[in-house]
Order: sequence, then structure tokens, then C-alpha cells
Amino acid sequence: MILLSIKNIVVRYGGVEALKGISLEIEEGSITTLIGSNGAGKSTCLKAVSGITPLSSGEIWFKDKRIDGVKPEKIVKMGVAHIPEGRRLFPHMSVYDNLMTGAFLRRDKPGINRDIEKAYSHFPILRKRKRQYAQSLSGGEQQMVAFGRGLLSNPKLFLFDEPSLGLAPILVNEVADHIKRLADEGYTVILVEQNANLALSLAKRAYVLELGKVTVEGDARELQNNEYVRKAYLGI
Ligand code: ATP
Repeated sequence: MILLSIKNIVVRYGGVEALKGISLEIEEGSITTLIGSNGAGKSTCLKAVSGITPLSSGEIWFKDKRIDGVKPEKIVKMGVAHIPEGRRLFPHMSVYDNLMTGAFLRRDKPGINRDIEKAYSHFPILRKRKRQYAQSLSGGEQQMVAFGRGLLSNPKLFLFDEPSLGLAPILVNEVADHIKRLADEGYTVILVEQNANLALSLAKRAYVLELGKVTVEGDARELQNNEYVRKAYLGI
């Protein structure tokens, strides 16, 4: 089943056309990746889905509801968690309080407690560090808090923007395992990555974005074998 449909969207920043009419179909319960170099429009695409950046034209559908033009907090409430590049934690708040910011629109205490436990089960270290300031954590641990905060909004769809950025290789593998686990648990994931090797190995379906357009799309395994993709993005 298709959970999210992006239909021919255009996004402009002043005179810059960052997205020039792209269309994506995101299947429920799977990982879809967007790869592409700096400035291709990957982050803009995620911001358009979460309602941070308005469309100039086109439509975005989440399940049977049209969500372009809907306020970002309402989109969160509908089940979309955006984990932005750079994590954006509150440095002078505890790990626990940072996690709880993910639940700011919720009133269902039992559900919130269940999801806090889910975050701690994904990342046991966060339970140990729950009273520590976020700023005292390592980069990898901060990424775990950003994941956990996403879980606390009780989403159906995760939008990850470069979760591996700036992490040591061993932590990159850990992040990858957690993204896989989310999909195994039934969440739907859109993964934006510059690390195309990693992204294609995790995803079921993939889109290559270049200068605001989709230039290649298909099964992630097929893209791993696509001559152009191998040369341009996999360094082979
Ligand atoms: P990166 O990996 O570097 O983040 P990206 O593929 O995510 O790249 P975007 O950040 O979506 O690309 O940027 C797409 C284009 O839009 C770029 O040309 C960028 O300079 C421009 N752009 C992005 N945000 C803004 C903004 N707030 N104001 C003006 N131009 C912007």
C-alpha cells in the first residue's frame, strides 16, 4: 500500500527552484531512499513533506489526506516524524526532556510511557543517561536522542535527513541497524543520505535527485547495479 504520494511538486526559494516537479511514491512499512549530491533538493523534499517549506505547485498525499498547506504540527500529529540534519536537540535540557519534546502534542500518558520504553529498548544507553544534558553526549548518542524523540511522536512515517553525517564508521553501522529495525517494526522510512552505499543497501526503493529533478528511480538493488549510479554515486 502507498502511504505517501508526492505529485509533481515544485518548491522555490526566491529565485531558486530547488524542486522542479518531482514525484515519489512511498510504500508502507518499507525504506525508501533519496540520494544525490549537495544541493540536489533532498532536504527540501523532506521539509515539503513535513510542512516546513511551502509548495509552489503540486500535491502531497498522506494516506487519503492531502497534506500540502497543512501546518507542520498537524502533520506531526497525523504521524510524520522529521529528524532533521544536525539533530537539533536542546543542549541544556536532559536526555529525558529532549525525548519528551517529541510528545508535545500528545495527551495519552500510557502511550507516551510505552514509547519512552520503546526508545530505551532501541537505545539502552539513553536510559542510563536520561538525566544528563544533551550537550554532554557524543555525536552518536545525540543521534539516538533524535531518533527517540521521533518515536515519541508516535509516527507512522519517519523522515531521516543524513542520520550518518559526522559519525564514526562503527556508529554509522549502528544507525543503519536501527533504521532497519524501525522498518521491521512496521514503520515507514524515507532516508536522505549522501552515503549512497549505505542508503541503497538499506532501502527497498530509491530515487536519485539531481538539481531538483528525479533522474533515476527503481528498486534499490537494481540501482546498486546501474552503471551510471555506480560511477556517479558509489565510487565504483
Ligand atoms: P545537502 O545535502 O547539501 O543538504 P540537499 O540535496 O538536501 O543538499 P537542499 O538543501 O534541499 O539540497 O537544497 C536545494 C537547493 O535549494 C540548493 O540550491 C540550496 O542552495 C537551495 N536552498 C535550500 N534552502 C534554501 C533557503 N532556505 N533559501 C534559499 N535557498 C535554499
